[in-house]
Amino acid sequence: MDAVLVINADLGPLHRVTVKHAIRMLCRRVAEIHEAEPDRVIGVFPLPRVVRLVRYVVTRWRFSAGPAWSRAGVLARDRRRCTYCDGAASTIDHILPRSRGGRNTWGNTTAACYACNQRKGDRTPAEAGMPLRREPVTPSWAALAR
Ligand SMILES: [Zn+2]
Repeated sequence: MDAVLVINADLGPLHRVTVKHAIRMLCRRVAEIHEAEPDRVIGVFPLPRVVRLVRYVVTRWRFSAGPAWSRAGVLARDRRRCTYCDGAASTIDHILPRSRGGRNTWGNTTAACYACNQRKGDRTPAEAGMPLRREPVTPSWAALAR
């Protein structure tokens, strides 16, 4: 209950911080009190419930769906291991083949070795009898930075 909501200069909610942290923001004048607890003070400040940043902070990255898709990104996410045989991967396989409408998305692509990619061809893993060893997911920024 002592958490303070931080809102952007345009009043968009950002995250919660401790009262102590909020007071520090007020002292450094990076935020102002937007809403305070009635009749309660901390030092010279009313006890804040919501503080508003003085300057607008661009936060698109915080809420974005994740990193944009790339071939290099898929290889990094899968640590260059083939999803079918766990060998060294150098190619990207489209799980639903491109020839059948499969797109360049994190969920439809996986690292594969050249041999498995050739063997699978224009088939789905089920049709080819080649199960995936791991679920293709959207990686975090941190996973790609490794
Ligand atoms: Zn393979």
